Amino acid sequence: MGFIVAFLFPRLPGILVTRGKGFNVNFPPHPEPIPLSPHLTQRVLHMRMFYWLGLIVSFIPLFFGLLSVKWGNVPFGFGLWLSSGWFILSRLQTFIGGPKPPWTLDMAQRLQIISNQVKSDSKCCESISPEWLLSGIYCTVCKDKLDDMPRPDLGRKRSDGFFMGVIRLIASDGNPFFTSDDKKIDTDNYESE
Ligand SMILES: [Zn+2]
Repeated sequence: MGFIVAFLFPRLPGILVTRGKGFNVNFPPHPEPIPLSPHLTQRVLHMRMFYWLGLIVSFIPLFFGLLSVKWGNVPFGFGLWLSSGWFILSRLQTFIGGPKPPWTLDMAQRLQIISNQVKSDSKCCESISPEWLLSGIYCTVCKDKLDDMPRPDLGRKRSDGFFMGVIRLIASDGNPFFTSDDKKIDTDNYESE
């Protein structure tokens, strides 16, 4: 019981806070592609904030776990302590070369750079209209791929229902279901040979 409580607790901000209707009026419903806009960049930054907020919040069950082991129900406290301790360790991995969080400042900056192309000379076509699909950012008009960045969960109410949605979010931690196309350089070399 303690393990489950401490498991869900730090994940709740990212799972619940942004799913309400009022939060998503500027976005098409999940799982449709999202047009690039300042709202989208802001959403990435919000998701990033909730992700790191989870780390701070997880110190609460860690603390209560310690109290409970000392003065209360020992198995419950140990469960709290183990689960939140594991969560904190896994999030801190980022700083020693572990996997990157699903939402980063770099991601928000890349979105902004692509949005700026609409006004620049390097655009793909006259009526450029970039949209974020699961596997990357594409222009809806000429179907050009503008960026390889796969789309993580963006806090919209999920089309697979609350229950399945929560299970998927917990399983993926918000990470995209596609992996970034890092092997592109290899295939380019292969083609030139
Ligand atoms: Zn285009």
